[in-house]
Amino acid sequence: MATYNIWTVGCQMNVADSQKLAAGLEQMGYTPVPEDMDADLVVINTCAVRQHAEDRAYSKLGTLKKRREGGAEFSIAVMGCSVGPKIDDLKKRFPYVDVWAPPQQFDGILELAGNARDVSEGELGSLLDGGMARTWAVPNGPTAFVPVIHGCDKFCTYCIVPLRRGREASRPVDDILAECRFLAAHGVREITLLGQTVEAYGHDLEPGGYGGPEGRPDLATLFDGINAIDGIARVRFLTSYPKDMTDRIIDAVADQPKVCEHFNIPVQSGSNTMLERMRRGYNVELFEERVARIRSVMPDAAIVTDVIVGCPGETEAEFAETVALLERVQFDIIHVAAYSPRPGTYAARRLADDVPMDVKKARLQVIEALHAKSSERINQRLLGQTVEVLIEQIDELGRATGRTRAGQLVHFASPPSTHLGDLVDVEIAEVTAWSLRGRAAGVPELTVI
Ligand code: SF4
Repeated sequence: MATYNIWTVGCQMNVADSQKLAAGLEQMGYTPVPEDMDADLVVINTCAVRQHAEDRAYSKLGTLKKRREGGAEFSIAVMGCSVGPKIDDLKKRFPYVDVWAPPQQFDGILELAGNARDVSEGELGSLLDGGMARTWAVPNGPTAFVPVIHGCDKFCTYCIVPLRRGREASRPVDDILAECRFLAAHGVREITLLGQTVEAYGHDLEPGGYGGPEGRPDLATLFDGINAIDGIARVRFLTSYPKDMTDRIIDAVADQPKVCEHFNIPVQSGSNTMLERMRRGYNVELFEERVARIRSVMPDAAIVTDVIVGCPGETEAEFAETVALLERVQFDIIHVAAYSPRPGTYAARRLADDVPMDVKKARLQVIEALHAKSSERINQRLLGQTVEVLIEQIDELGRATGRTRAGQLVHFASPPSTHLGDLVDVEIAEVTAWSLRGRAAGVPELTVI
């Protein structure tokens, strides 16, 4: 019996890619194993967005090398964003890797796996020949990721994504909806539509009488289609790019009952001069106008953002503008990272990494403190309220964990006869900045954990 293990680091897009690859391997008779030391094929799915993620992948490769040198026989494949167009240096550094597969192009890995198992050419061809559609991941829980647009055209100066994942390329509507129906038939209740800039979905597809710009399909088209699929209870989408977020898309989130009022919109900086150096393509005014538009139609929408501190040239005054923006907008969650140059990007080539590390760390702490304060305040509002939770896990003691429509994590005692994927009303009895605890509404005999 052939076995495989996929080690994944990075964003949800990587998780989705790993699941697709796993589906292809399983169609060829491979079985997953939890430990790489038991696998005939080990796949490392890498992320190049931060140095730390790349370092972890390289350290993992170092461990695999030692096992190889110790006589173990297994194949090694590396996929994901670290596998760029120029990989000669990587090949020299890690000559023992059998296959290098750029993001979303894992034909080479399937070929290697197929050849090792004497999979027939016809069978292999059916997986490789436009095989993405035939390698939908079989879900292993009530939630699933569905990539709808690959790549990014924005070329922010600090970002490696467009250089590694290429230009924006949308999947056809029918293909996406067929995958969603497949997931629903396998018990999935919540689908998250993925794209680096998810609202750009459809702009590169042919017009066809859809309701989006110039008759093209857009994210609202997908919401519409998924709304009609029985079994699917919730739809999420990420990551948003403010300039692509049309009124039509915002209104569709408000109008479609299955679409969660939950936005992930990275602002990155609250300073217009800094945004210009980042080449983000919008200014603070546009960002705040989009947030205001969302809140005008969905006053309780959850809005999550990302911030990078210490980008090239960031002054104290520019950082203060970011703090002021975060205080004005009051996000539900703020993800913050310190800038580190990614080789090959415009910023790494042309802009000096001139903010000292201690200053970056201090700015990071300021934002983290703001985040803790604002999420605790938002969670406090839920104390005593009843929220709808979709159950994602139930442990052997009957403790359930799930998320609200706004994405907050909730722990509660699972009432009898509830299952993964059920929607349960939960009364919130305890809150922290990071999670909520409660009891299932109308089930008095169950105590709060
Ligand atoms: S929008 Fe900017 S930060 Fe986001 S993936 Fe594209 S280039 Fe990177």
